[in-house]
Amino acid sequence: MKIFKVGDSQKAICENCRSLENATFKLRDVPFSDGSGLVKNVLVGVCDKCDQVSILPHQSTPVVKKQLEAQRKPIESRLPAHMVDILNLATLELGGSTDFVQNLMKFYIHKLASDERSAKTIARFLKSELAKGKAEKRLSLKGRQIYADIELLKATSRISNTTDLIKSVILKINDDLLIKKEPKTTRQLKDVMASVA
Ligand SMILES: [Zn+2]
Repeated sequence: MKIFKVGDSQKAICENCRSLENATFKLRDVPFSDGSGLVKNVLVGVCDKCDQVSILPHQSTPVVKKQLEAQRKPIESRLPAHMVDILNLATLELGGSTDFVQNLMKFYIHKLASDERSAKTIARFLKSELAKGKAEKRLSLKGRQIYADIELLKATSRISNTTDLIKSVILKINDDLLIKKEPKTTRQLKDVMASVA
């Protein structure tokens, strides 16, 4: 893979000029193609003739990806207050702090998304007494894997509503960690906690 430096140049097809033009590599703020945002300070090839971006070099892909992800909206759910308390208590049970709530949720969503048998059982929690209550607190989840995992889990658990899905995952956490105190999951989570601490 060729690595370009600021000031290097190369011939490229410019879509704006509709011809082969010389392009010079520069750091630019580049708008997303759908106009929804801006990738800042990224190395691109700029057409010498019309000053439009004509090359996005491979080496800039990680920067673009990172900025796209950072600007992606988190998954928001409004939940009864006791659900957030369950998550906080679970982190305490694991010997951590409430900072771990995000990772705990992501761990569970990912684990359930890759375990169809368990995923099929979580809808039952929605019928429990703990699933009720006025939605007064907000939980927001953000991450690279979370969107794909949630879509997959919706399909296997047959829970199509995101908030309902989040509620059943929390009640599964309650069942595993606070009621049954499952040693295997607890151990796995303690490892995750140690690795992100
Ligand atoms: Zn051009």
